[in-house]
Amino acid sequence: MSDIKVTHLHKNYGSVEVLKDINLDIRSGEFVIFVGPSGCGKSTLLRCISGLESITSGILEIDGRVMNRIPASRRGIAMVFQSYALYPHMSVRENMAYSMKLRRAPRAEIAAHVAEAARKLQLEPYLDRYPRELSGGQRQRVAIGRAIVRNPKVFLFDEPLSNLDAALRVATRLEIARLKADLPETTMIYVTHDQVEAMTLADRIVVLNAGRVEQMGTPVELYEQPQSLFVARFIGSPQMNLIGGDIAAALGAHTIGIRPEDMTLGAGPHEGKVTHIEYLGADTFVYIEDHPPHLLTIRLAGQPAPAVGETIRFDFNADKAHKFGADGQRLP
Ligand code: ADP
Ligand code: MG
Repeated sequence: MSDIKVTHLHKNYGSVEVLKDINLDIRSGEFVIFVGPSGCGKSTLLRCISGLESITSGILEIDGRVMNRIPASRRGIAMVFQSYALYPHMSVRENMAYSMKLRRAPRAEIAAHVAEAARKLQLEPYLDRYPRELSGGQRQRVAIGRAIVRNPKVFLFDEPLSNLDAALRVATRLEIARLKADLPETTMIYVTHDQVEAMTLADRIVVLNAGRVEQMGTPVELYEQPQSLFVARFIGSPQMNLIGGDIAAALGAHTIGIRPEDMTLGAGPHEGKVTHIEYLGADTFVYIEDHPPHLLTIRLAGQPAPAVGETIRFDFNADKAHKFGADGQRLP
C-alpha cells in the first residue's frame, strides 16, 4: 500500500513560483509518468515528493499520512537519477549491498536481496565487475538494483534513460516495463521529457506546463482526448496537425487538430505542395504546405509516396478532428 496524494501543492524558489496548485491522486501500485518541456517543474515535483525539497504550501500524503515534515530517509522512497552515481571503487555487488550494510542488516539477508535484484535486472553475470567495466545501460540497471534492494514502497525515477544512446534506451525501457510487472505493489513515478517513454510505460500520464498540471490521464485518453492545444502538441509523434482559418471555422472551431494518420493523400478538397518526405520503412511521413500556409504531416503506411515539389490533393477525416477554441481549450 502506498497511495500518494498531493493537495494544493505550491513550491517557490524565493519569489518565483515553480509549482502552482498541483493536485494528484496516485493509487498504490500505479506507474505514473510526469512529462512536459524542460523547466516545467517535473524534477521539482519529484523532489518535493521524495523529501529532497521542501513544500512551500499544500499537503503531501503517503498512505494517508502527512509527509510534509517527514525527512526523505523515512518516507519509504527510493530515487534513481539520470546520472547513476555508482561508487567507482565498489563492485556491482557491493554497490547494491551498500545501503543494507549501512543499516547493519544480516549478511544472509543482504545476499538474498542482492541476488533477487540481480535476477530481476539480469545483472547476475556482472556482480563482480566494477562500474567502469559496464556499459551505460548496465550501470543504470545497477543504480536501479541499488534502489530495489532497499525494498521501497515508492520508486521515483528522474529521466533515468536520458544519458543512454537510442538502442540502449529502448532496451532499458523494456527492462523498466518488466520491473514494473515484477513489482506490482510498488508505486512508481517516472519523469521524462520523452513522450514515447511516457506512452509506452505509464498507467497514467501527468502533463505539466509551466508549473501546472495541464492534464492527467491514461496514454489513450491523452492521445484521443487532449484537453488543450498544449497537450495536443505534446503527445504524438509526429505532432498533430493544427489548422486554423476557414477550415477550422467550417467545423465551428478556432483551431482543429488532425493526427497524421487521419489525413489522406491523392484526393479531396485541399491542395498543397510536398516539401519533404521521411521514409521509415513501415511508415512514410509526407510533409506538405497548403494555403494559407500550414506545415502538415500525412502518415502513409506502405503506399507509394509522391515526390518533393509535387502539388497534391489531400483530405482529412472530419470525425477525427479535435476542436479547440481561441483560448486553446478543447471544445465539446
Ligand atoms: P524540469 O525537471 O521540468 O526540467 P525543474 O523542476 O528542474 O524542471 O525546474 C523548474 C523550474 O524551477 C525551472 O525554471 C528552474 O530554473 C527552477 N529551479 C529548479 N531548481 C531550482 C533551485 N534550486 N533554485 C531556483 N530555481 C530552481
Ligand atoms: Mg528535470
